[in-house]
Amino acid sequence: MTDFIDLKLSKPILRAITEEGYKTPSPIQAGTIPSLLEGEDVLGIAQTGTGKTAAFALPLLHKLAEAQHKAVSKKPFAVILAPTRELAGQIGENIQDYARYVPLRTKVVFGGTSIRPQIQALFRGIHILVATPGRLLDLMNQGHCDLSNVQTFILDEADRMLDMGFIHDIRKISAAIPKKRQTVLFSATMPATVKGLADGLLRDPVTVEVAPQATTAEKVDQQLMYVDQGDKRALLDHLFKDSEMEKVIIFTRTKHRADRVTRNLNQAGITAAAIHGNKAQNARQRALKAFAAGEIRALVATDVAARGIDVDGITHVINFELPNEADSYIHRIGRTARANATGIAIAFCCEEERAYLKDIEKIIRQSIPMVEDHPFHAADVANATSKPVRPVQGGRGGRGRGTPKGGSGGRNSGGKRHTGQRPKSGGENANTGAGKPKKNKWRKKPGNKAANKTGSKPGGNRSGGRPNSGSKSRASH
Ligand code: AMP
Repeated sequence: MTDFIDLKLSKPILRAITEEGYKTPSPIQAGTIPSLLEGEDVLGIAQTGTGKTAAFALPLLHKLAEAQHKAVSKKPFAVILAPTRELAGQIGENIQDYARYVPLRTKVVFGGTSIRPQIQALFRGIHILVATPGRLLDLMNQGHCDLSNVQTFILDEADRMLDMGFIHDIRKISAAIPKKRQTVLFSATMPATVKGLADGLLRDPVTVEVAPQATTAEKVDQQLMYVDQGDKRALLDHLFKDSEMEKVIIFTRTKHRADRVTRNLNQAGITAAAIHGNKAQNARQRALKAFAAGEIRALVATDVAARGIDVDGITHVINFELPNEADSYIHRIGRTARANATGIAIAFCCEEERAYLKDIEKIIRQSIPMVEDHPFHAADVANATSKPVRPVQGGRGGRGRGTPKGGSGGRNSGGKRHTGQRPKSGGENANTGAGKPKKNKWRKKPGNKAANKTGSKPGGNRSGGRPNSGSKSRASH
């Protein structure tokens, strides 16, 4: 599949995506759009940055435009669930872009903002509802939204929704949608919990998988800096002396720490804003806008708030604190590798985080090269031979991975690098999007793994899972 025309999307949609600058379908789009147009249930395993939003949005728009339904008060025809406000907003914006030549109405609803305009839009009637689960349930419970007309139910970033504890909300929403429907589930990762959800929601789905978990990581120049917890702020300030640190996302594990890091940066004369769950929605949007426009150099974020951020030209991702869920590391560093760009991801690691580092290296299937040429190198942490100990965690119970067993914990492997700077060759074009407010466009990367359309039933190999009978064979040859 080399062209959007081959995908048989209608002319107004083709026109819109041409204007967006999309020339060829990305692998996830080529892999899922034909099945979605045929009305099949689809399980898509793809990360952000692969073009997954268009993969589910374009066929939806095509089908709704063909059906020419008149919008019905309170009764949308399609529901798209997303874990966070940011992602929901992003999906809504993409849909507006793609739907600019089709007469369809879309509304994005999420918590933390006034419910009134959402109620009014539903009352007037919309075709597509993009929602976070909690707010959608509120609207349903208050009698402002009725899902009995829904024909297409899409769940985006299902893994994250489960991490955030939305399973019961999802089940309630699903139960309110007629059984005769098309269900589409996208997830960046496929842990057993997501497989279980997919088994329950999807009927005989076509599975399309692109970019195995580590692929994003391969595009990013990853660096590891061992540093004592107390030196992290000074190391951060030091790194900002590098003028190539133009557009930097800094990740912390907690909201509190995000605020502290932001304050410290501002005190050091580095323009920064924080974005996390305690910030009002308009403050988050303001920070994001300023960051996207290059008005501030740094955005300090927690994982939840950062989901769905699609900002061009992020030069660096700094893991000020390593995530306690290894998957989050891939999501984090993927912020700088969007749409096939490359970038630099620097991970700070202190003694307490060695166990997290081990988990991460396991999941990305590589050792992150250590950079010791900085003033705060913690040699004792780098050379530690004791078994890493997992810190006692507070906060929301996520998907914990087992405590790493054995291993020296010392770093004998992984190449050394001597600066935190952008590589001089090979990565020079990485930053072409910087300062340009429009999106990076996905381009096929030579050697990029093509869509691997397995056609297997989710959970097929899972031990103790449901028997995998009647699986659909979709091998693409
Ligand atoms: P997503 O994975 O949906 O977050 O998309 C990542 C980025 O790729 C977004 O900025 C999209 O606008 C862009 N994009 C999606 N599909 C294509 C395509 N076929 N060609 C070029 N850019 C694309």
